[in-house]
Amino acid sequence: MKKINELILGTNNQGKVREIKKLLPKKVSIETPKGLNIKSPKETGVSFLENSLIKAKYFSKKTQKVCLADDSGLEIDILNKLPGIYSARWAGPQSDFKIAIRKVYRELKRKKVNLKKNIKCRFICALTIYWPGGKFYQSQGIINGKISVKSKGTRGFGYDPIFIPKGYKVTFGQMLFSKKSKIDHRYKAFKKIKKFF
Ligand code: IMP
Repeated sequence: MKKINELILGTNNQGKVREIKKLLPKKVSIETPKGLNIKSPKETGVSFLENSLIKAKYFSKKTQKVCLADDSGLEIDILNKLPGIYSARWAGPQSDFKIAIRKVYRELKRKKVNLKKNIKCRFICALTIYWPGGKFYQSQGIINGKISVKSKGTRGFGYDPIFIPKGYKVTFGQMLFSKKSKIDHRYKAFKKIKKFF
């Protein structure tokens, strides 16, 4: 198998770019759509796997390079798995996660849930590697947890301040990246594609 030594990262989310870059071996040369002035495609899929394939295929076709795309999000059981594949969209056009987090608490309040109870949720990460020519490979990683009584911590991105991974007492927003990145959904999905690098 020919190892991948250059690729385009199929995301315009700078939080993800930061985290994915740290997971890839240093020898891999990485470009981003932002650097090449390419906008993201519409995510019309109904699952994380489908959306990561849409992005990987789109950016690979645009650049004729191998593309690695991530589609991820937070599923909250009591909200019928929302925000789920709509996780980014809940933050609005400005990607303001204060808005998305407020919406989570508003929806939970509407369901009259007791925030002190274990509000089960999980982060899911679907990855697709797409080669020019049409071959692709997919993997998925999951980390289970619960919603914090309130937003805590300033590290990470997105929903990190409200997610407490199972077996821990702090949110991802309070956790050092060196710790989060050894247990989270993205790390678990990455483990399964490491062999390509
Ligand atoms: P998309 O995959 O670009 O559609 O966006 C997924 C969204 O899920 C991100 O914008 C984040 O809000 C959220 N998300 C995915 N992974 C993480 C994570 O590790 N921490 C916090 N939020 C995340």
